[in-house]
Amino acid sequence: AASDTRPPSPRSPVTRPVTARVPAKVNVQLAVGGRRPDGFHDLANVFLAVGLHDEVTATPAESLRVTVEGTDAPHVPTDHTNLAARAAIALAARHGIAPDVHLHITKDIPVAGGMAGGSADAAGALVACDALWGTKTSRTELLALCADLGSDVPFSLVGGAALGRGRGELLTPLETGGTFHWVFAVADGGLSTPAVYRECDRLREETGAGATVDDVPDPEPSEALLTALHTGDPAALAAAVTNDLQPAALSLRPALAETLRAGADGGALASLVSGSGPTCAFLAKDAEAAQDVATALAASGTCRTVRTASGPAPGATVTTP
Ligand code: ATP
Repeated sequence: AASDTRPPSPRSPVTRPVTARVPAKVNVQLAVGGRRPDGFHDLANVFLAVGLHDEVTATPAESLRVTVEGTDAPHVPTDHTNLAARAAIALAARHGIAPDVHLHITKDIPVAGGMAGGSADAAGALVACDALWGTKTSRTELLALCADLGSDVPFSLVGGAALGRGRGELLTPLETGGTFHWVFAVADGGLSTPAVYRECDRLREETGAGATVDDVPDPEPSEALLTALHTGDPAALAAAVTNDLQPAALSLRPALAETLRAGADGGALASLVSGSGPTCAFLAKDAEAAQDVATALAASGTCRTVRTASGPAPGATVTTP
């Protein structure tokens, strides 16, 4: 028959579920420039992916549907505002197909914790749907879709360690010289990222220095920090970590100061708020020291949950054969 001689379809959709695994991130440097006229802030954002993961499973369905499991599941929307759903819709639109997929999210990344959980799910949905639909989207196109979905989504796709400029979406991968051991203190309740940026602007205005791009120096990556990542030296990295959003997160959630102190007392080399918070991140000398910091934090009663994880970790990866 004529159909037997046609070239194979460029698309070879699979019908069995496809699962992608995506890491959380910690910002080892978050330098925040002045508020731009469009309301965003230019950043020098050094990301490190860490081994705390969400999984996104894509299965063919009659229509787009999202389900979520995990402790924080009640706080995650299951309508089309879920970033994973938005990612599937954007990928389908790019290829002129219907986003008929069931996305099941197994959530282990704290929600609204400053660890880019929603961004991870978006990146996971993109690679899982791309494999499910056989759309073979190029890496460049996937990165462009990611940047449209959110400032942190491109990093969730690439993982490892990277410098983000612009809003954080213009990425330069960074080589790292070793594994860094972290402890994360998860707080009760989240902090809204836009609210933390607004508080950062408010605090800058309050000091009289101003909060616009004309008032605040352009954010620049720290050479000492990039060198510490490159050599894999935790003590040097600890001396160089900074987060310009930390004063704002502490202003909105003063109790975080006690969490930071508890980790430092437990032997952490560095204690800082992760991104926009309220998760606090603690860098330890090695895996054993990380356990000690975790034990001290758990005993302190200053946080909801304590997790250990090391980085760098790979970006969004399809795990089903
Ligand atoms: P970032 O570190 O990138 O600022 P975050 O880790 O602080 O982000 P998220 O966990 O991404 O915050 O969630 C922020 C808000 O986004 C949540 O309160 C939730 O309402 C909404 N949201 C939409 N989709 C998701 C998703 N797939 N997972 C978690 N939250 C989502």
